[in-house]
Amino acid sequence: MHKTVITMKITKFLKSAGLLIVFAFFSLNLIAINPDNMKSSGIELAPVAEFPALPYAYNALEPYIDARTMEIHYDKHHRAYYTNFINAIKGTPLETMTLSDIFASMSKQSDAVRNNGGGFYNHVFFWNSMAAGSTTPSAELTAAINKTFGSFDKFKEVFNTAAKSRFGSGWAWLYVNADKNLAVGSTPYQDNPLMDNATVKGTPLLALDVWEHAYYLKYQNRRPEYIDAFWNVVNWNEVNKRFAEAVK
Ligand code: MN
Repeated sequence: MHKTVITMKITKFLKSAGLLIVFAFFSLNLIAINPDNMKSSGIELAPVAEFPALPYAYNALEPYIDARTMEIHYDKHHRAYYTNFINAIKGTPLETMTLSDIFASMSKQSDAVRNNGGGFYNHVFFWNSMAAGSTTPSAELTAAINKTFGSFDKFKEVFNTAAKSRFGSGWAWLYVNADKNLAVGSTPYQDNPLMDNATVKGTPLLALDVWEHAYYLKYQNRRPEYIDAFWNVVNWNEVNKRFAEAVK
């Protein structure tokens, strides 16, 4: 008798827990897309139900990017953009749109969607633009860099200038423009080249965050030092993949 009651209670519990899991699965699925997409060029990137994990440890990019900066940048700044973005799209048609579609319609969206959607995506893109260990641009990307900029050093110089001269907060980008050529530019705040109302437009290949929160703890006001250090941790394997995808 006693045993039966317990069994029934457990069965009841499992049933409701099961229902809860099924319910949670379906409600998450409304906005869930394979988190693996977070590692791609991000064109089809959709809002996700879970804040994506950093692809490496906080100290992985030491000494160029210190662990404390990485932790605060990821766990405070990036997470806040993510949370605010999810809150901004909750209950709206944006919930089921891909990020690329949201960005393509950005001129019609609110400042909250623009700033936080950009802030969410740009940081995922940025984390995956970096890795420990040395990688190099592919032969195809090198040829494109030489064609557009003359040499790799010249490209770096143009990119560095874009990053240094962005007044206040923003990003520097290497991207593929509408003519399928490489270009370098910068955007203010959390804008990116995928937005229809951005100052530079195209498919991003490489991003550098030049907000003070990205470097102030280690480099204080010395943004150029942070920019120089960045070149030691560029994940060219990822940039090569993004390039191949963008020009095919
Ligand atoms: Mn940032």
